[in-house]
Amino acid sequence: MLDLIDVLNNEGCLYKFSKEYSPEPQEFMGGTLRFEEPFTVTGHVKNMQGAIEIFANVKGSLKTECARCGDDARYCFSFEYFDEVAHEGYEDGIELIGTKIDLGGAVLGEILSNLPMSILCKPDCKGLCPKCGANLNNTTCNCPSVESDAVWEKLKLLNLKDEV
Ligand SMILES: [Zn+2]
Ligand SMILES: [Zn+2]
Repeated sequence: MLDLIDVLNNEGCLYKFSKEYSPEPQEFMGGTLRFEEPFTVTGHVKNMQGAIEIFANVKGSLKTECARCGDDARYCFSFEYFDEVAHEGYEDGIELIGTKIDLGGAVLGEILSNLPMSILCKPDCKGLCPKCGANLNNTTCNCPSVESDAVWEKLKLLNLKDEV
C-alpha cells in the first residue's frame, strides 16, 4: 500500500516513490504466471489542483509455461503507468482506502491486461509433435509431419484433376 497523506492534503505537492512488489502466482489464460523476482514501480504522485495523478515506470519479468511446448518461458515487461486516484469529487481511477492506494494491485492488473496472447520459450519454439507429444526442440520423432501430409493431400488433388 502506498500512503498518500502528504499529497492529499497539499495542493501542488509531489511525492516520489520507488517500490518493489512480489505478487503471488497468478492463474492466467490456463497457465500460471510466477513472479520469481519482484517488479519495480518508480515514479511520483502529484496533487494537481485537487486531482491526484500517478506517473510511474514499471519494470520486471515473470515466468510461465511456453504456449507451444510447455517448458519455462520468461516474459520481460517495461512500460509507463499513468492513473488517477478516486477521491472526493474525482471518481475515476484507483480506489482510495483511507489515505492509501493498492498501487501494486493496480499495476499488476495493468501487467496482466498487456500480456501477449501467447508467451513462448523462444521465438522459434518448435512445439510438441501433435501425434506423439515429443518436444521437438529437444528431439525428433518418426511421426510423419503435418506439413508433409498437407503436401501429400495437394498432390492427390492434382492427380485427380489430371485424371478428369
Ligand atoms: Zn517452447
Ligand atoms: Zn511425433
